[in-house]
Amino acid sequence: MPEVHVSPHPLVQHKLTLLRRTATEPKKFRELVRELSQLLLYEATLDLPLNPIAIETPLAPHMGHEIGARIGLVPILRAGLGMVDPILDLIPTARVWHLGLYRDHATLEPVTYYNKLPPEANIDLCLVLDPMLATGGSATAAVNILKEWGARRIKFLGLIAAPEGVAALSTAHPDVPIYLAAIDDHLNQIGYIVPGLGDAGDRQFGTG
Ligand code: URA
Repeated sequence: MPEVHVSPHPLVQHKLTLLRRTATEPKKFRELVRELSQLLLYEATLDLPLNPIAIETPLAPHMGHEIGARIGLVPILRAGLGMVDPILDLIPTARVWHLGLYRDHATLEPVTYYNKLPPEANIDLCLVLDPMLATGGSATAAVNILKEWGARRIKFLGLIAAPEGVAALSTAHPDVPIYLAAIDDHLNQIGYIVPGLGDAGDRQFGTG
């Protein structure tokens, strides 16, 4: 069974509501994307492996822990960009590989226009970042690209999904857990999530 995690956390639900509001300006919108990305990352990284590490505190030697996974962030341009820095704040060693996928407005199919993956897939976990899981076409295409490249463990991190997007991604890639703040009602005829928040790229970058 595919794993789909929708955060019930009160902070997530509160901030998501602020994010959706038409009155939320791009500056506040970007701050909320930052905060929500960090809160969802916290949930998505609960199962990261730890390695023991010997350290000295000012008082005594101590066996502590360090993260035992090499992590790659794969933001889908351009809306995924706003999720990168807040995650790098918490995982500064993560690598970032940009994937440019846009939806053809006529067919709603994903088209790849930018791929900055390195030749070798030396990574333990890839986090695909896109605030909106709408048709699921871009997310499924991104995971296809990552698997062909050699990524073994992949998670999807988003903010809002349509049921259609969750179904498409989890049917194509049942091994990819999905982390979200909400699953909304439906997709409209032009591929927007309802009630959603509009265009996540436009709202972050003030281009609407
Ligand atoms: N992408 C967005 O930014 N918003 C939607 O509602 C769907 C896809």
